[in-house]
Amino acid sequence: MSERRTYYFDNNATTRVAPEVVDAMMPFFTERWGNASSAYSFGNQVVKDLDRAREQVAALIGADPREIVFTSCGTEANNTAWNSALITQPGKRHVLTTAVEHSANIKFGEFLRRRGYEVTFLPVESDGSIDLHLLEKSIRPDTALVSVMWANNETGVLFPLEEIAAICRSKGVLYHTDAVQVPGKLKVDVDELGVDFLSLSAHKLHAPKGVGLLYCRYTAPYHSYLIGGGQEKGRRGGTENVPYIVGFGRAAELALASIQEENTRIRALRDRLEQTILATIPDTCRNGARDARLPNTSNLSFGGCEAEGLLLLLDREGICVSSGSACTTGSLTPSHVLTAMGLTPARAKSSIRISLGIYTTAAEVDYLLEKLPPIVARLRASPEIVKA
Ligand SMILES: *Cc1c(COP(=O)(O)O)cnc(C)c1O
Repeated sequence: MSERRTYYFDNNATTRVAPEVVDAMMPFFTERWGNASSAYSFGNQVVKDLDRAREQVAALIGADPREIVFTSCGTEANNTAWNSALITQPGKRHVLTTAVEHSANIKFGEFLRRRGYEVTFLPVESDGSIDLHLLEKSIRPDTALVSVMWANNETGVLFPLEEIAAICRSKGVLYHTDAVQVPGKLKVDVDELGVDFLSLSAHKLHAPKGVGLLYCRYTAPYHSYLIGGGQEKGRRGGTENVPYIVGFGRAAELALASIQEENTRIRALRDRLEQTILATIPDTCRNGARDARLPNTSNLSFGGCEAEGLLLLLDREGICVSSGSACTTGSLTPSHVLTAMGLTPARAKSSIRISLGIYTTAAEVDYLLEKLPPIVARLRASPEIVKA
């Protein structure tokens, strides 16, 4: 296969591992591969590297390093928070969440329902925002946990975390947030936010797939999800993934340094891309609030086009974007996020997500702006061209 250039506009799905992160990880594969729990120094000398990574990720979110539990991914962090809230408060059998969460929470909620728990999936407004009065009214005496994400991965829409946390505090309910999309893009300070639990995933911030964390406020009751050895001070069984945790720490350090860039350069690139598309391609619109949004994300509908076709034709030009919906054996299910916002299935299925990152250049944006209009025109003229 000939080498083809990739124009990557899917940074909310995963990100390129930063070369600095690879460098930080390498020694832990080749020379320093011992087990942190060993009694001898060849193993336990990596403990201080784990401690350092814990300090680095804690600094990214304004936490105390002792409040960090490393996990295998963002999904495990979310599952752990939900499971913990139910196990530590056995009398409470209700979880309050939203209809637009990542599938890690949606599917866990559905699983809990099948196990006899009650789960409320709060609806959202047409711009993807949430009704805080409804949220407050939906908290019950038996609510074990409120879990509302910070930034939506499909639309980039932000929820007002501080206000939600204040409501939860006044009701004495634990609050978890899936903040996977946020670090590196916005400042994160768990004390300003007032959350009890917060999930992150390393591969959304230029570290490898397969490592994440759960922040657990020291006052919040906690119970392990994975039961095993005494790792993570007994809060998560399983031998620590030392190279990945070290890489996560380094990525956290870099993410702190890149927030400014993401908020100015990338926001400007995203706005230029979005505004040009909306102004020059007819029958297009943005999905989700314009302002309360991540600086890197744009979710757009192209009337009369199937996202499936757009993705395929863009892929032929080396361009990676996403439809934000699950593709099962050729049939696209419309995104649960967009349908919760009230989009018709047809409009939801004509939507694509473009997500920029620190490696996105102005030239790449120009390339996308050059390739997209003729592709949209071609698809509108003959929708069957991609079915062949
Ligand atoms: C990617 C993502 C997750 C899942 O993280 P993994 O590490 O892939 O399990 C959870 N929530 C949001 C909002 C995400 O974008």
